[in-house]
Amino acid sequence: MSSPISLTFLGAAGTVTGSKHLLEAGGRRILIDCGLFQGLKALRLRNWEPFAVDPASIAAVILTHAHLDHCGYLPRLVAAGFRGRIFCTPGTKDLCSLVLPDAAHIQEEDARQANRHGYTKHAPALPLFTTTDAARALTHLQPVGYNRPIPLWGQAGDSHLPVTYQAGDSHPTVEFINAGHLLGSAYARVRVGDRTILFGGDLGRYGRPVLPDPTPVADADVLLLESTYGDRVHEVDDNGDRLATIVNETATRGGKLIIPSFAIGRVEEVLYWLRRLEDQKRIPVLPVYVDSPMAAAALKFYSGRANELDPEMTTGQRHVCAFCTTRMVTVASPQQSKDLTASRQPAIVISSSGMATGGRVLHHLEAAITSAKNTVLFVGYQAAGTRGRTLVDGGTEIKLHGRVLPVSARIERIDSMSAHADASEIMRWLSGFSRPPRMTYLVHGEPAALQALASRIATERGWPVHIAAHHERVEFP
Ligand SMILES: [Zn+2]
Repeated sequence: MSSPISLTFLGAAGTVTGSKHLLEAGGRRILIDCGLFQGLKALRLRNWEPFAVDPASIAAVILTHAHLDHCGYLPRLVAAGFRGRIFCTPGTKDLCSLVLPDAAHIQEEDARQANRHGYTKHAPALPLFTTTDAARALTHLQPVGYNRPIPLWGQAGDSHLPVTYQAGDSHPTVEFINAGHLLGSAYARVRVGDRTILFGGDLGRYGRPVLPDPTPVADADVLLLESTYGDRVHEVDDNGDRLATIVNETATRGGKLIIPSFAIGRVEEVLYWLRRLEDQKRIPVLPVYVDSPMAAAALKFYSGRANELDPEMTTGQRHVCAFCTTRMVTVASPQQSKDLTASRQPAIVISSSGMATGGRVLHHLEAAITSAKNTVLFVGYQAAGTRGRTLVDGGTEIKLHGRVLPVSARIERIDSMSAHADASEIMRWLSGFSRPPRMTYLVHGEPAALQALASRIATERGWPVHIAAHHERVEFP
């Protein structure tokens, strides 16, 4: 007889950030994803709440990928007493080694700025976690290649486990399957006894450059599915036409094109398209600045793991410098970044963060947003409450570094570069299942998207489907 399995949704339930799913089986706790809440203040405040269970009681963590909304809470979890292994793919480990210290640095810097300028109600303002916390969290990462189920415990060195292993228990296993959403991204297939739970993480897209298609999966007893674009279909791929138009129009006005971009993932695709448009002589050869040390480091990891990317990336010329445009410059020092910010020369600047919530892009926006010559182009999802969302929703002013500035620059967005499957792509992926899961839980979406996807799955596939609520606990059917 198999023991009950339960799942508690500790994040990304009814919203798109803070992914954390607590699996409890046979007296053990496994946390799948450990993400930060981002966006609206009410959500961000959740990062400061005590964790729902004692972190020391969690036996293992499994990460689907290295985006902060899936891994960014790890430093806090480790600081609060988690001692186990954090299982992930080697690509995820690489990218975590960039994003966690960077997030810690931003936290520390924000706290310092808030204290210096006194724009805080807290005295003193504290970082959510420090660079030391991030470094400690990284030492827990346990890389595992794709398609190799491995036991979550039972190996030497597991003496930290809070509950003694009982003879007769079967070890749960985890297997990572390429999700095509980011370098190293995966679905985590967890097997407990005779049951299979598939944590979908974030689902990639079909027929896109750089990343491979999401791997088909034939079955699972329980499925957790993201719903970010559950109510939307991405604009059809236009072979770079819109991007070419935006680049050409901005160049004609003699302006700068600022592209806020997630430092990992999106930068690669933006560069891929810019290079392709240059090769095809559809845009002028402009200086392209990658003003994000993390993006520059991530480019190296992408190039080093080209075998995990779209097959196109390992053929011909691309193998040599997979992402370089003709006049690409990676901006290293803060001084170089300042010079670039001050420069009025036509150029393309790719800088993070992707939703303009922090990072060097804020300085570029501050310098560029008040001139109609310039363009700001968003290429990723813009969560509610972020500056990016305000701008794409047509906001006429924006607050940057404590100053309110009028928005005169042209604001554009291209959704086709999204890394998330849209509603039709999600349905396409589900059509690969040879039998319906006994239950599909929808997570990682805003309410309208969750509702729309739930009704599509129910009507088109006839599957039982449930929208997860924050802190809801379910036992498996
Ligand atoms: Zn993601």
